[in-house]
Amino acid sequence: MKNILSYRSKNISFSQTIAMSSKARLLKNRGYNIINLSLGEPDFSPPEFILNSAKKAIDNGFHHYTPVSGYTDLKETICDKFYRDNQLKYKPSQIVVSTGAKQSIINVLLSLLNKNDEVIIPSPYWGSYLQMVKFCESNPVIIPTNMNNNFKINPDKLEKYISDKTKLFIFNNPCNPTGSIYSYEELKKLIDVLKKYPKIIILSDEIYEHIYYSKVHPTSIAIFPDIYKQVVTLNGLSKAFSMTGWRIGYIGAPEWIAQSCDKIQGQMTSCANSIAQRAAITALKSSPKKIQYLVKSFKKRRDLILDKINEIKGFQFNKPDGAFYIFPKISNFFGKQINGISIKNSDQFSEFLLEKAHVATVSGSAFGKDGYLRISYASSEKNIIEAFERLKILLHN
Ligand code: PLP
Repeated sequence: MKNILSYRSKNISFSQTIAMSSKARLLKNRGYNIINLSLGEPDFSPPEFILNSAKKAIDNGFHHYTPVSGYTDLKETICDKFYRDNQLKYKPSQIVVSTGAKQSIINVLLSLLNKNDEVIIPSPYWGSYLQMVKFCESNPVIIPTNMNNNFKINPDKLEKYISDKTKLFIFNNPCNPTGSIYSYEELKKLIDVLKKYPKIIILSDEIYEHIYYSKVHPTSIAIFPDIYKQVVTLNGLSKAFSMTGWRIGYIGAPEWIAQSCDKIQGQMTSCANSIAQRAAITALKSSPKKIQYLVKSFKKRRDLILDKINEIKGFQFNKPDGAFYIFPKISNFFGKQINGISIKNSDQFSEFLLEKAHVATVSGSAFGKDGYLRISYASSEKNIIEAFERLKILLHN
């Protein structure tokens, strides 16, 4: 019977990140002392004032369907947030609130992509982009990057990958999994290329915008007037507010794209959760200063993980500037006998760490980059220290 599954379903694979987390959870439930550094979610609870506003929303009777694209006052709040944090001008008619940024992305992709269209994605990339593009029967066009240039693309490289079939360019800044952040000047150079192709839409995933460790806030692509009309700005509450399970994402987009997303969403889910939307108003009205404690804590963990990884021979890595991952090169370990085993690729390496050290990570192949490993530091300092002690014992053997 499996054969009658749709071509679309057969064409995509399970999320490797979710699969690794599930495996780690399963082993934990069986009594193993697993340290999970595979997760892309903060280990904090959402701030108290947001929890209180959700409780109030329940008491005040926000139990029913909302407008498909979100409560009007939430969309107004998102416009204010875009202006306050990103200097972007959007009207509520350009905003669509969805059940997480993931749903926002598929809304945009389903709105724009036809069979055999091309979508440019720099690698390493967040795995769901690739799968969603394939789900739309379009072709991902991957621009490889490497560690020497901090996993960033340059304008010449970008232009080389553009063709008559290019419909979309997916851009993630700060980047999951590398933690790289493009400077204003670097972005400006990419924009000079993209503005020559007004039919290419740029999906700018800015979900990690508040999680950065330098003094300068990451720049939103839509800030460049020449290409404002080509950009869909994507954001959500999962990362900055630790609200992964609340499922709120949103876009600011040209009206014609927003209307299409509204139409698709209206047929698929009706609306995002009403209580979570009310809490999102409170979250987005608050100053980003209120979540600085979280960013400070991530910075401390990043510095800790840099110290710890340095103590183990074989890892090569860059200092991540944002998000909460480190993406070391691990190919030095390939082909060597470690604990009597010879490892050939990232999948095997990640499995090996889980099996022998009970530390869960995600293979670089999940991000289009074999030879690398994603380690999340959205975990306590105690866990990070213990995990690296275990890795040191295992890998120095
Ligand atoms: N974009 C990136 C780069 C992510 O890392 C994630 C989650 O891991 C998402 C989007 C999806 O976020 P949400 O939880 O809002 O669906």
